[in-house]
Formats: sequence, C-alpha cells, structure tokens
Amino acid sequence: MTEQKEASATQPLYPLRVAAELSLTSVYSIRQYIDRGLIIPYRTSTNRHLFSNVDIARLRCIRKNLDENGLNLAGIKSQFAMTPCWLIRGCSEEDRNVCDAYDSVTDPCWTAANKGPECVNTDCRTCAVYKLPEKCENLKDLLKKIDRLIL
Ligand code: SF4
Repeated sequence: MTEQKEASATQPLYPLRVAAELSLTSVYSIRQYIDRGLIIPYRTSTNRHLFSNVDIARLRCIRKNLDENGLNLAGIKSQFAMTPCWLIRGCSEEDRNVCDAYDSVTDPCWTAANKGPECVNTDCRTCAVYKLPEKCENLKDLLKKIDRLIL
C-alpha cells in the first residue's frame, strides 16, 4: 500500500450512522464495541465519533468472527489481546518490561494504561497493529506470516 493510501485508510471520515450502514452493524452494537475497546474511532472536540476505513474493516471483521466463526465478544477481544504487537513494532526487551500490553491476555494493546516507549507517543489508530483486521486474518494465519518474516 502506498503512503497516501495508508493515510487515507486511517483518516476519520464517517459518522456513526454511516459506519453502521457500511459495516452492516447496528449503531447499538458499534457503541458496545467501542465501550469494550474493540475499536477506537476518532473522537471530535464535540465528542462525536468518526470512523475510518480501517475502523469499518475492523467492524466487518468483528461481525465475521461473531457470525461465521462462532466467537463471542470476549473471545474476539482476547484474540486481539493475543496479537504479538511487540514483534510487529519491534519492541526491545526493555520496552516490553514496562508495557502492560505485553502480558495482557484479555485487553487489546491499544487499551493498555501503561504503554512501552515504542508506543507511548504513537496514535494507535494509525498503527500497523490496529490496522491488521483490514485483511481479517485469523490469529494463526497472522502468526504464520510473522514467523516467515522473522525466521
Ligand atoms: S501503538 Fe497502540 S496499537 Fe500499536 S502496538 Fe502500540 S499500543 Fe498497540
């Protein structure tokens, strides 16, 4: 993906109702996913949510996991939490030791209260880890891909 395309994929564009239409997800469900930390749409100064194409892809991926793979929200959240973000970001051992996300098996890294130096000043909405569900891969396929990259 070119830099320009990557930037436009994460640009906050759609209000909640449009995001609901594009992702075939109810407004109520989207609010629930936000509350549970499954998605992190952009918040305007007037406290409105705006969704990017990455957010829409993430919503579709959540729907797929619920409807086709039989997962519940806790299972999906745990799957997000298991994503080896430290490998994707290249965090050092020192970074990992001070990052809550490294040990959490229940909460996605972008919800961590204390993030490592590699992430602390990064906008999670634009991070490669948050953008992964663009392809909606299951965790095993993702791990196989990372394995090929680092071996
Ligand atoms: S920048 Fe945010 S989404 Fe990316 S690995 Fe760090 S905590 Fe996770």
